[in-house]
Amino acid sequence: MSFSFLGGIHPQENKWYAESQPVQPFPEPDILVIPMQQHIGAPCKSLVKKGDHVTVGQKIGDNEGLCVPVHAPVSGTVKAVEMRPHSSGMTVMSVVIQNDHLDELCPDVKPRDILEVAKCTPQELMDIIREAGIVGMGGATFPTHVKLSSGIGKVDTIIVNACECEPYIVADDRVCQEFPAEVVSGLKIIMKVLNLQKAHIALEDNKPTAAANLRKVISTNPGVTLDILPAKYPQGAEKQLIYAITGREVPSGGLPASVGCAVFNAGTCKAIHDAVYDGMPLIRRIVTVSGDIVMEPKNLIVPVGTSFNDLLEAVGHGENPYKVLSGGPMMGMAQFDLSVPITKGTNAVTILGARNRFAVSHPHCIRCGKCMDVCPMHLMPLMLYQAERHGDVEELKHLNLMDCIECGCCAYTCPATIPLVQSFRAGKQRIRNAMPPKPAAPAAKS
Ligand code: SF4
Ligand code: SF4
Repeated sequence: MSFSFLGGIHPQENKWYAESQPVQPFPEPDILVIPMQQHIGAPCKSLVKKGDHVTVGQKIGDNEGLCVPVHAPVSGTVKAVEMRPHSSGMTVMSVVIQNDHLDELCPDVKPRDILEVAKCTPQELMDIIREAGIVGMGGATFPTHVKLSSGIGKVDTIIVNACECEPYIVADDRVCQEFPAEVVSGLKIIMKVLNLQKAHIALEDNKPTAAANLRKVISTNPGVTLDILPAKYPQGAEKQLIYAITGREVPSGGLPASVGCAVFNAGTCKAIHDAVYDGMPLIRRIVTVSGDIVMEPKNLIVPVGTSFNDLLEAVGHGENPYKVLSGGPMMGMAQFDLSVPITKGTNAVTILGARNRFAVSHPHCIRCGKCMDVCPMHLMPLMLYQAERHGDVEELKHLNLMDCIECGCCAYTCPATIPLVQSFRAGKQRIRNAMPPKPAAPAAKS
């Protein structure tokens, strides 16, 4: 039984551009830029310096606290450790590697056989996952070992999110079509860590091949069920997915664990398998490169650190792009500098033409209420927009702006083409700025 969340929209899926394209390796570039911040939490500190030699899978950055390490995707020489632009719009300390194309493997990368994995304790598995630098690969980039450790004893329902409801993006669809055994293997590791015998894999009903291939694998894995949900945006959003599978509502400001759930992206499950069995850290990921002006849409296995420019060249485009997005058209971030690198959280590069230009110079709300009908978080976007325009922080808080998941349903449906999501991002920043600064940590005792 599944539940249907209120609100949501049915945008043109445009999956056909790339859904039939098998995953293919992207030729490794000569230069890679590896940001030290690719996850939610404390940025890594570089463990290498200019002139150092690095090997494939070598740890090149790490830190304490809420952090996962980053690794070299290729062998070569460190050209620089410096600030570089990042797809988030910030500049971030990054390690620049000149690829020597020798693919020299780091001696730390050691495969494990089934018996070795079977002997691993939950803590050992979480340590492997941390050391492999695994984060939520659907875009959230939360460190996976932390989600696991904080879920032990609290979580009774595991959900693998393979819904992938964003238009154009088919990276997880291809993962499930081509690597279903690895996805389920990663899920079994999660089940062992959380000491649970049952789990769900959730797919939308527009992915029949992925469903068929997963069904074959789970037929020999009792405890794993496949949940086929109706395609509706944003079915893949964490709170909406939890409601669809369990009927439980994550409270305002709450985390999935507060209702006994933990959600893992399908690509993350495969990365867990690769780390535990192959000993391979998260140095490559599958990226859908698509869009309405793309000549040859592709699904590519891309080394982290490859530039957006390199990917644009690989697919070609028929006209000058109006917009290049990290992610899809609903939730993606428009890029102003295409030298930015692919990171662990980049599931797609979407290249759109001028026909997607909808903005008008002075948009006016006509109070049609459509934005409220579609908001899956039951917010009042028109009121939020007005509060943000007046800079009214108390009203923004009162209207629960921080619950906005920036899904873009309201902006998509707004006939006045008001840039609602941009305004909500600015409003969230207003709220953060108005928060009292955290007290300074006490000085360390000698
Ligand atoms: S962007 Fe925010 S306000 Fe708009 S529909 Fe999504 S959750 Fe609601
Ligand atoms: S959909 Fe747009 S025009 Fe209609 S009420 Fe919402 S903000 Fe106003």
